[in-house]
Amino acid sequence: MPISKTKPLKIDGSTGEGGGQIIRTALSLSMLTGIPIEIVNIRAGRAKPGLMRQHLMCVQASHAISDASVSGANLASTAFSFTPNMINSGDYAFDIGSAGSTSLVLQTVLPALLFANTDSKAASTVTIKGGTHNPMAPTIDFLQHAFIPALTKLGMQVDIECLQAGFAPVGGGTIKTTITPFLRRADSSPFKLTERSELISMELVASNLNLEYDICQRELASAKALLVESGIDETLITTRCNKLIGIGEGNTCYAKVTHKIAATHNHEQNHQEMFTLLGEKCTSAEKIGNRLAGLVKRYLFKTDALVDEYLTDQLLLPLALSGGGEFTARVISQHTETQAWLIEQFLPVKITFDIIDNDRTIVKIMT
Ligand code: AMP
Repeated sequence: MPISKTKPLKIDGSTGEGGGQIIRTALSLSMLTGIPIEIVNIRAGRAKPGLMRQHLMCVQASHAISDASVSGANLASTAFSFTPNMINSGDYAFDIGSAGSTSLVLQTVLPALLFANTDSKAASTVTIKGGTHNPMAPTIDFLQHAFIPALTKLGMQVDIECLQAGFAPVGGGTIKTTITPFLRRADSSPFKLTERSELISMELVASNLNLEYDICQRELASAKALLVESGIDETLITTRCNKLIGIGEGNTCYAKVTHKIAATHNHEQNHQEMFTLLGEKCTSAEKIGNRLAGLVKRYLFKTDALVDEYLTDQLLLPLALSGGGEFTARVISQHTETQAWLIEQFLPVKITFDIIDNDRTIVKIMT
């Protein structure tokens, strides 16, 4: 029996990007608005359509926190329906059962738990087992150093710990997140991340899980050499090798690039952008380091935008839920366009993309 009397919103999962993001965002918004959903053509744009383990976990986790009624959600399903009930804060533990991305499961339940029981002020904790460093998904480092700092600017308080790292194919990683209920302050200044000012620092970090230490050193050395050669002030660059704890094997590296935001804005002064890569079996450490430097150089020298591709699509929902704002984006991906379309199906918001110049678009979320 459906719990809600509202007519379900039918969502075509093949729209735009046609990936897992449509399922995750639809679940988040269904829980927050109480609107039941029926999703069809799930991940029709992907080589293996339908629900994979990570997506199924997103449905199950949403079911658990919102006491929903769900039908048709199984592995490989291409359609399911979901009718949420009340969101309950609490302590939750989910096990994806594969190396599927813990970050993406977290991003599904995070908005609901941020807005749950805001009068009780009781924080929720969510522990998720699976992969912490996955291709085609934000790594845990990306969440900690780019996504969460952006949420902090909105006044949201979220803390993520990586208890164990997990890479494909073994997985076995664990993250634990503490989510404090969010109440928007009436006097909070509008979110504005538009003008990039000077580069403050660049942190290059390479991490290994049960692999030889020198892989990290070689990655960092080649990345740093290319960045210095391109004219970046060497004194701004720091490097660090890191040993991860967990089962299986894996290698990852990232560059955290911090800029001052031009002084015209009266909120937080810095913006952190993250570029992450995973090591690959048949690719040398030097090549991975060079690729990392390439991502950083494209951001530094080919655009004046503050926000890069992935943070752009991930910022839309938190902004739409917390009063809107604007930021400059290097690129508007199909993920971003699809995300904007889906958010507008549920919420009375308008999201616009205005190209300012080559490689810079102003994204506005008006509520
Ligand atoms: P989907 O392909 O629909 O499952 O969505 C993938 C999500 O992962 C999107 O929100 C992307 O922004 C995000 N993503 C993919 N690759 C990266 C990356 N290298 N760094 C950060 N986020 C990523």
